[in-house]
Amino acid sequence: MSVRVNNRISSLPPSPTMTVSARAAEMRRQGIDVLSFAAGEPDFPTPAHVVDAAIAAMRAGKTTYTAAVGLVELREAICRRLRAEIGVSFTPAEVVVSPGAKYALFAAFQVLLERGDEVIIPAPYWVSFPEQVRLADGVPVIVDCPAETGFALDPEALRAAITERTRVIVLNSPGNPTGAVYSRQALESVLDVVRGHRGQPLWVLSDETYSRLVFDGAEHFSPAQIAPDLRDQILIASSLSKTYAMTGWRVGFLAAPKDVITAIGTLQSHSNSNVNTIAQWAAIAALDGDQTVVESMREAFSERRKIVLELLAAVPGFSCGAPSGAFYVFPSTRGVMDSSLEMARILLEEARVAVVPGDAFGAPGHLRISYATSLANLRTGIERIRQAVENLARR
Ligand code: PLP
Repeated sequence: MSVRVNNRISSLPPSPTMTVSARAAEMRRQGIDVLSFAAGEPDFPTPAHVVDAAIAAMRAGKTTYTAAVGLVELREAICRRLRAEIGVSFTPAEVVVSPGAKYALFAAFQVLLERGDEVIIPAPYWVSFPEQVRLADGVPVIVDCPAETGFALDPEALRAAITERTRVIVLNSPGNPTGAVYSRQALESVLDVVRGHRGQPLWVLSDETYSRLVFDGAEHFSPAQIAPDLRDQILIASSLSKTYAMTGWRVGFLAAPKDVITAIGTLQSHSNSNVNTIAQWAAIAALDGDQTVVESMREAFSERRKIVLELLAAVPGFSCGAPSGAFYVFPSTRGVMDSSLEMARILLEEARVAVVPGDAFGAPGHLRISYATSLANLRTGIERIRQAVENLARR
C-alpha cells in the first residue's frame, strides 16, 4: 500500500510563480542564459543597519522564543509606522507578527471562516488568496475586474457577488499582479457597499504589502484610514518583505480588532510559535530606522517602470496600461495570441525570458512582468521578447 498525503493538500497546486522561477533556475543550471522577470521580490540587499541590528541581537543573546503574537517592542514599532503611514492608531494588542504577510493572511482566513463561508476575491488576484481560502474550508468567489476599468473592483459587481454566506472581501492595493492602485474614490465606493450591507457584517481584508511602492504621484489609501466607522470590520495585512528588501527574513503582520489578533496568537502558538526572534529585532530597526533607504529603492523601481513601459510599447500586439504601484506590469498579449500560457512558454523556450502567465492570477490573456531586476536585464529581456513576438508574426 502506498503512502499518500490527504486530499486537501494533494489537490493544492504549487504556487505558479514559484514554479516559473524554479523552471528558469533549472534552465540556468543547464547553462542556458535565461532572464527571469518572474520574481516577486526586490533585487536589492537588505539595508546594512537592519543586518547590523540582527547581528547585535544575536550577540546580545536575544535568541529565545518570544510571545506567539510577536515582541511587544516590534508591535509597538508597527503601530508607530502605521500611524506615520496611514494616520491610524493601533495598540500592540491589535497587532500580530507573522512569518510574512502570507502567513498573516493564511491565519486570518483560518480564524474568520466557517466551512462554506464565501470570500470575494477581485481578479486578477495574488495566487495564494483562493488557495488560502480553500485551506480554511471557505469558498473563493472570484469577481472579474477588467483592465479597461483599471483592475479595480466595481461596486455594482461587488454588490451582485455578495450572498448571505459572504464573510470577507479581499482588497489588495497596490496589487499583485497588476500594480493597480485604488484611488480614494474607488476605495470609498467599495466601502460604501460594505457599509450599506444588511445582515451579518462583512470583513474587509486589505493586503497592503506594496503600500510604499507607488509612483507618478499616486497615493496609497488604506480602508482603515478612509472608513474609520468600519474600523472593527477591517484587517490590514502587511509586510517588511517588499518595503525593506527583507523577503527571506519572513516578517509580516496583521492589524485587526483585538479578538482576531488573540485568535491568531493562539493559532500561531500551536503552529509556528513565533517569527524568528532575530528577524523581529531586525524588523524594529527597519521600521524605526532611516526611511530614506525605502525612498531610494522606490526611486530605482520608478525609473525601471518608466523604461519598461517605453520598451513594452514597442512590442507589437502587447497592450499595457501604466500601473501606479508594486513592481509589476501586466500587459495584455491577446493582440499576439489568446493563450497566455502558450505565450509564456514560447517566451521561455525561444526568448529565454521567464514571465508568469496571467492564468495563474485568474486573468488569462496577460503576462506578469516583474521589474525587480536590473535595467540591463530589462533592456535585454524586453528586446528578446520583441524579437520573439516579431518572429511569431512572420510564421
Ligand atoms: N501579498 C501579496 C499581494 C504578495 O504579492 C506577497 C508576496 O509576493 C505577499 C502578500 C506575501 O509576502 P510576504 O509573505 O513575503 O510578506
